[in-house]
Amino acid sequence: MAKVEFRNIKKSFGDVDVVKQFDFTVNDGEFVVFLGPSGCGKSTTLRMLAGLESISAGDIYVGDKLMNNIDAKDRDLAMVFQSYALYPHMSVYENIAFALKLKGLPKKEIDEEVRKAATMLELMPLLDRKPKELSGGQRQRVAMGRAMVRTPKVFLFDEPLSNLDAKLRGTMREEIKQLHRNLSTTTIYVTHDQIEAMTLADRIVILKDGYVAQVGTPTDVFQRPANKFVAQFIGNPSMNMLDAQLVEQNGEFFVQLGETLIPLPERFKAHASKNVALHFGVRPTDIHLRAEQVDHDRVLPVPVKIKDKELLGASILLKTEIAGQPLMVETQAAELDVDEVTLYLDLDAIHLFDALSEKTLASYDNA
Ligand code: ADP
Ligand code: MG
Repeated sequence: MAKVEFRNIKKSFGDVDVVKQFDFTVNDGEFVVFLGPSGCGKSTTLRMLAGLESISAGDIYVGDKLMNNIDAKDRDLAMVFQSYALYPHMSVYENIAFALKLKGLPKKEIDEEVRKAATMLELMPLLDRKPKELSGGQRQRVAMGRAMVRTPKVFLFDEPLSNLDAKLRGTMREEIKQLHRNLSTTTIYVTHDQIEAMTLADRIVILKDGYVAQVGTPTDVFQRPANKFVAQFIGNPSMNMLDAQLVEQNGEFFVQLGETLIPLPERFKAHASKNVALHFGVRPTDIHLRAEQVDHDRVLPVPVKIKDKELLGASILLKTEIAGQPLMVETQAAELDVDEVTLYLDLDAIHLFDALSEKTLASYDNA
């Protein structure tokens, strides 16, 4: 096991900079997820660590060892990809044993290692099967078994569940989490799926266009997004984001949304200056149909018309407007039968971002 340090890493392909600045340490034993939209540089960053891609600038350390000029096969990292190419002519057992055979371990030791991994991954009944006789999830577990027996310093996963159906993804997520609990191996996991990131990560690194948008625990990035991008990337349905203005009246600050004036909550006051253009963010689940649904009195009533409704299953999405701008509200299906309602905004749960920098105005700023 080891920590992994990325020091001022940059990567360009020709004159295109795809990783612009990456400076980050994964702690020993930590499970870190690199999360971001397709093309933001997640795989490239992971591949530089794995030795599959050259580094344009900066240093990568695993433990105290500089990796830059070490061959991929000598880095002692195990990588599981989205497309897990198993050897088709080999059984499950032989696939898992392969790396250990190459190392020249004694047969008995190989057997012990394979059975230990197969037990953990519930592959024992399948050891004699060929890959084509396995389901997608079983194949993915074999790929993980192959990585596990190498007892690497670090596990690297690149979208390992993307090819699986939703139900299997859920199961495999749980298994990967369990694997990390059992082995405590330092793990870096790349995904564009926020649910995978939220459920698996000790810390999430959110990437955008080759930059780090925010680093934090799942709770940090959900409750205290450092910028507008993170606010809207995390959470489903996405956070409402409305254009607003910060105004001052009689020495008090308000967020102005059309006719609606919202007293500026305390946590934003340190960065407040009047007549600043803002983005006002509030999650659909932080808007309520009854004031009592909020357990404090910092709520703001706003009457709105319901334009449309969308049944999500257990809840319903109401499409409304404030100041001519769309506002989604997620509420319980029982409250379906209304056309006009008063919404109650939980003022402890609103977010404000400077319209220019797109950074949060809150003083928890941890960007
Ligand atoms: P992600 O994994 O976040 O989806 P990647 O790291 O694969 O993104 O890619 C980041 C950017 O780098 C993309 O715009 C991609 O097209 C580009 N890219 C990746 N590999 C190469 C390459 N070998 N040559 C040129 N451009 C590349
Ligand atoms: Mg990728």
